[in-house]
Amino acid sequence: MKRRDFVLSSALLGLPTIVWADEEPAESQGHDLIVVGGGAGGLTAAYCAAKNGGSVLLIEKSSRLGGDTLLSGGYFNAVLTEEESKFFPGIERDSVDLFANQINSAADGYNNPLLGYELAKRSRSSFEWLKSLGINFLPKPFLIYGGSYPRSFLPESGDGKIYIQILAEACMREKVKFLYKTKVISLIKSRYQNKVIGVLVQSGNRFRSFFSSKGVIVAAGGFGANKDKINTLLPNNPETGTDSNPNALGDLHNAIAEVGGKLINMDFVEYVPGASHQDSYSVRLDYNPEKVVLVNEKGERFVEETKPRNEIAAKYFSGKFKKCFTITDNETVQQIEPGRRKNIYRGLYNNTVWRAGSISQLADKLNIPASALMKTIEENKYEKKILSPPYWAANVVFRVHLTLGGACIDNRARVLSEKNQPIQGIWATGQIVGNIHGKNRLGGNGINSAVIFGRLAAFDAMMQKS
Ligand SMILES: Cc1cc2nc3c(=O)[nH]c(=O)nc-3n(C[C@H](O)[C@H](O)[C@H](O)COP(=O)(O)OP(=O)(O)OC[C@H]3O[C@@H](n4cnc5c(N)ncnc54)[C@H](O)[C@@H]3O)c2cc1C
Repeated sequence: MKRRDFVLSSALLGLPTIVWADEEPAESQGHDLIVVGGGAGGLTAAYCAAKNGGSVLLIEKSSRLGGDTLLSGGYFNAVLTEEESKFFPGIERDSVDLFANQINSAADGYNNPLLGYELAKRSRSSFEWLKSLGINFLPKPFLIYGGSYPRSFLPESGDGKIYIQILAEACMREKVKFLYKTKVISLIKSRYQNKVIGVLVQSGNRFRSFFSSKGVIVAAGGFGANKDKINTLLPNNPETGTDSNPNALGDLHNAIAEVGGKLINMDFVEYVPGASHQDSYSVRLDYNPEKVVLVNEKGERFVEETKPRNEIAAKYFSGKFKKCFTITDNETVQQIEPGRRKNIYRGLYNNTVWRAGSISQLADKLNIPASALMKTIEENKYEKKILSPPYWAANVVFRVHLTLGGACIDNRARVLSEKNQPIQGIWATGQIVGNIHGKNRLGGNGINSAVIFGRLAAFDAMMQKS
């Protein structure tokens, strides 16, 4: 491919745009497939394609792999087996249908329900697949914040980091090539083939193009760290910090649109309790939402804590509270995973966490009315099992957790056009996909969807003729 064949001008101005290739590329620089992004989605896709015999180039903007996956709690939702269901007697037995219904009902009409079903259906096999690669999970699953049902499995150690470690090792075994500190700025589409055939990248001041015979899998994550983009899409967006990694800027969203891909739900952003602006680590007591109460500065409970995340955040923001705290008891704190518990103890010294022998003393420390807080806890203590002193409170600030908008895909992870037709040579997986979770993504459905649709994308890509 000769340089003159590209329409490079706007790309060189730094604008994500399409680059048209007017002739068929002479050669694909030896790659069958290019994968953009080194989080759970990209690494899964790269490994699966390479395992199926493909030569794969994975391009990562950062100097290291990981993205949001690396920062994540690592919870992975999978449909429970009959044996695992016995951990939770008295609640409805888990099934693909139950999980799919919960995904689709949380989506509130803004997703493709068939993809919700696909996610539920493939959750167990992808969970087993990760185990076969070497990730060990705790046997008893959790009901996590925004999760709907206790089917979130936690790795025995390593939180989100273990996915990156195991998947990166698997990629290396299969000789996936990695290119770091390289930002993909555009997708290259062939006029001749009407197909995505490569990418234009920038590293420092240098621009280069890479081609692949089968196409490109885009797994570049969301745009939770792009304040300007979020404020433009959501003019009434509350001023908050973000949980996302600094590279979550949405570089590839426009590039997908430029090659004809349909983007949806771009103004859906999810907020969860996290660290305040000045703290780099999260201090949270709400890992088990069944055992916490969220109160405002009046000591009043304002939401059912097991509700979907968007409902909790909406109540919080519409209440315009001056303060918000999570209240729980000592037993719950001692059950929190040790790494997170360490942050809670750090919070005691930084005045973001408080502990007291009685609810009334706790209220005094929080500077909120003791009688109201005592009434709230009295009314909820048996349901929420807030029974064993000392009692704990953590300051709650809501942060951008993730963005829900992105590319529309089908059940083979192919990116769809505005007319819902698959575009040749491009697949997407992970947080950059917009039509799986709709308005609200269930807690524990981030990593699993990246892995599930990453596997599907790789499988479909490798089935294509070069
Ligand atoms: C604090 C936190 C906790 C979470 N906890 C959980 C949890 O417990 N369970 C769960 O299921 N989900 C959780 N999530 C969400 C989950 O981590 C994500 O939904 C999921 O990991 C997304 O995977 P991904 O592969 O799509 O993106 P990422 O893991 O973000 O990877 C995207 C990669 O693409 C790279 N990239 C971006 N732009 C470019 C570009 N232009 N060129 C090249 N590379 C680029 C990025 O640098 C990044 O490495 C959490 C998220 C956060 C922030």
